[in-house]
Amino acid sequence: MLGKQHVSITLATVFPLLVPMLFNGDGNYQLYSISILIAVLIGSLTPDADCGGKSKLYYDFRFVYEIMIPLQKSVVWIFDRFNLKHKLNLEYEVGNEHRGIMHAPIGILISSLLIALIVFILAIIILKESAVVIFVTVFVGLLIGQFFHLMEDSCTVAGINWKFPFGTKELKGKIYTFGKFKGKKDIRPAISEYSLWSITFFLLVGDAFDYIDLTQLSVYPLILLVLVLMWILIISIAKTDFQFWYQDIEKIRKMKKIARNIGK
Ligand SMILES: [Zn+2]
Repeated sequence: MLGKQHVSITLATVFPLLVPMLFNGDGNYQLYSISILIAVLIGSLTPDADCGGKSKLYYDFRFVYEIMIPLQKSVVWIFDRFNLKHKLNLEYEVGNEHRGIMHAPIGILISSLLIALIVFILAIIILKESAVVIFVTVFVGLLIGQFFHLMEDSCTVAGINWKFPFGTKELKGKIYTFGKFKGKKDIRPAISEYSLWSITFFLLVGDAFDYIDLTQLSVYPLILLVLVLMWILIISIAKTDFQFWYQDIEKIRKMKKIARNIGK
């Protein structure tokens, strides 16, 4: 999936859960949620540091990219040096390939921890306080962002092996990142994006018209339920192969233009 799609789908998933915290009025909660949001945004791009070419992470968050490259090399070196494949009886060799160790739960855990630790040390030096809170929010945010990156990649034909390198538990869909047919675009990433953002939209409209009280923590379980159902739907449609999903790029462009003109 493309970098900008990772960012949008991931943020749209996490945002509804942070909306009540952002509206809670407590300055601390607002600060935590903004810190988590930034970490989620970076996390949504982090795994693709392994793609060989220059990913969106390289252009937008170069400092994280510069941490990820030596980190991946070190992890690969450790597995090789200590012959961990043999010792841990692993099913796969850990190498530098795209969608290898950095696209697996173990990889996102290691990288989230390392980046959060670096931010923690910087926070101790610069801020001298709140370093622990910053560490926790950055770690949680990065982990969530990277987790949803894996979920999104699981909707594509290449898929994700969730047990790498210990075993095989592949989750894959039928979405081609760069399109299956020439001149056509798979509209499922866009549908997922808009559907997820619509949750935030309804929450804000509902709050504005007093249908929902965002200061009540009891709205959380309901938002969580809607998100889970929506993700089940996203994964389910990713596994289908209807002609409808592939729409003319020209047609989409025209529709966007009309929508933009209406917006004006
Ligand atoms: Zn990826």
